[in-house]
Amino acid sequence: MPSERQYRQEIVRLGAALHRSGFVAATDGNLSVRLDENRILVTPTSVSKGSMRPSDLVIVDPEGRKLGGRRDVSSEIAMHLLIYRLRPDIRAVVHAHPPTATGFAASGLALNQPLVCEIVVSLGCVPLARYGTPGTAELSQALRPLIPQYDAILMANHGVVSYGEELQQAYMKMETVEHFAKIALTAHLLGQEQPLQEDDLAKLMVARSKYAGSRSAAPMPLEPQNGGPSGNHHNRNRIASDSDKPVSAPRR
Ligand SMILES: [Zn+2]
Repeated sequence: MPSERQYRQEIVRLGAALHRSGFVAATDGNLSVRLDENRILVTPTSVSKGSMRPSDLVIVDPEGRKLGGRRDVSSEIAMHLLIYRLRPDIRAVVHAHPPTATGFAASGLALNQPLVCEIVVSLGCVPLARYGTPGTAELSQALRPLIPQYDAILMANHGVVSYGEELQQAYMKMETVEHFAKIALTAHLLGQEQPLQEDDLAKLMVARSKYAGSRSAAPMPLEPQNGGPSGNHHNRNRIASDSDKPVSAPRR
């Protein structure tokens, strides 16, 4: 297992990657790693994720109380803590505002069309959590029903959160979400989306169980297609809520 020092360096490295990729602007975004059951290493507030130093990072306990570090902890720490609480398998969380995926989130659209085979395998669909003010219980409530089943979530009018067993994995899921959003947007602009059909999807779901790094139990699609490839777009996407029921058995 990497040391705390290595995790600090990795957070700095991937924070810079988020910034370089245009997934965050100014001081946006935050990353964290669960060091052990009592300590979470997390990025500070009011610092560009493109120019952090390992010593800028903060350590908090599972309740968010600061245990170490000179700076103040990210204002979005509650979202990270909630994910660690609900997902014992998760060791790292990344939050950013990648523009295309956030554009979907700002338009009330989930990324739930099975348009690309490898994304069906790696992530499944990316649901949309209803809006909640960052750093408040309102946002936690919107995310809570989705966290057990999905490894990446769009947050309405806000951005994206992704998580994994390791930080690099959580970061790559963020990249996959933004890449998929660009593909979905392009397919939509071309006006001829042709989602994968049910029998092909079934084969991909079998492949998923062998795919290293994917712990997502996310179904794809979230809802049955309405009228096939060129069917009505308007009913396919919707904002998830507490009352959402998984369409396949949850992992736990
Ligand atoms: Zn944010």
